[in-house]
Amino acid sequence: AKEAGRNTYQIYSRAVHRDLTEKLELMKRLRHAVEQEKLVVYYQPKIDLNSRRIIGAEALVRWVEDDGKVIGPDQFIPIAEDTGLIIPISDFVMRQATEQLKQWHDLGYDDLTMAINISGKQLHTPDLIDKVLDTVHQARIGPQFIELELTEQVFIENIQSHRHFMHAIREHGIALAIDDFGVGYSSLSYLKNFPVTSLKIDRSFVQDLPGDNDDATITQTIINLAKNLEIDIVAEGIETEQQVDFLMERECFVGQGFLFSRPIPAEQFTQLLQKYQGL
Ligand code: C2E
Ligand code: CA
Ligand code: CA
Ligand code: CA
Repeated sequence: AKEAGRNTYQIYSRAVHRDLTEKLELMKRLRHAVEQEKLVVYYQPKIDLNSRRIIGAEALVRWVEDDGKVIGPDQFIPIAEDTGLIIPISDFVMRQATEQLKQWHDLGYDDLTMAINISGKQLHTPDLIDKVLDTVHQARIGPQFIELELTEQVFIENIQSHRHFMHAIREHGIALAIDDFGVGYSSLSYLKNFPVTSLKIDRSFVQDLPGDNDDATITQTIINLAKNLEIDIVAEGIETEQQVDFLMERECFVGQGFLFSRPIPAEQFTQLLQKYQGL
């Protein structure tokens, strides 16, 4: 029994050691990637479901390795948050996204908006408001074209500093969306306390529409909620025309999803703009 115990321990500790080593290795590579600007911002269009025109873009960061392999944010944002690397990463994303938006405006697509994801951890950096405002100002973009997307978790925490951040952001005319709406433990009262301008219905509710009755009910309820509160509504993860029909019948007129486009590099996004809205 003693022998077995020791073996279990050794196996366990080896596994922990391996995890730690992998984590450290990933951290080191990520730090290099940030320093050497190996990060790239992709953009996914936000679509007016009626006209099928592109009304905005969401900035989604990618890590491109030397062999060209593209790593998604789910693989490195959590570790970036734990190590503080999230700060240079999000500075980079904000700068790229605002400069890109300026270029699109200059090309004549001057109604386009840009959504930027902000993680909960970032909200704990004290100078975030100044950083956002500086970046927008530097890019010479009107703040009304910028939207910050915060996940529901941040709203549920309902911390004074978060409320302060959101009110300051809104006072400067920047829009504020709740991302992944409906997946958290909803204490809906935060909708009253925070100056939210839009809700994004999480893709997990959209993916099984229109067939799944529960998801249909939840989606309908979220749309009604937004309507009653006079908040804009956006559906994420639209992959089929049936989903578009379902959403439009219920008066959700803005969406994103692979049906329209995956997140793509800026040059490709420019081509999409030329194809679908001319100029
Ligand atoms: P998110 O903000 O909810 O972004 C939407 C995710 O859904 C994106 O994954 C996008 O590629 C994916 N998606 C969009 N349409 C569809 C669809 O029709 N079907 C399916 N199956 N998926 C779809 P991505 O790019 O891997 O990003 C994952 C998450 O990483 C984001 O979720 C966001 O929370 C985070 N993230 C991305 N970029 C940044 C960033 O610059 N800063 C921070 N803090 N977080 C970021
Ligand atoms: Ca988002
Ligand atoms: Ca989302
Ligand atoms: Ca379901």
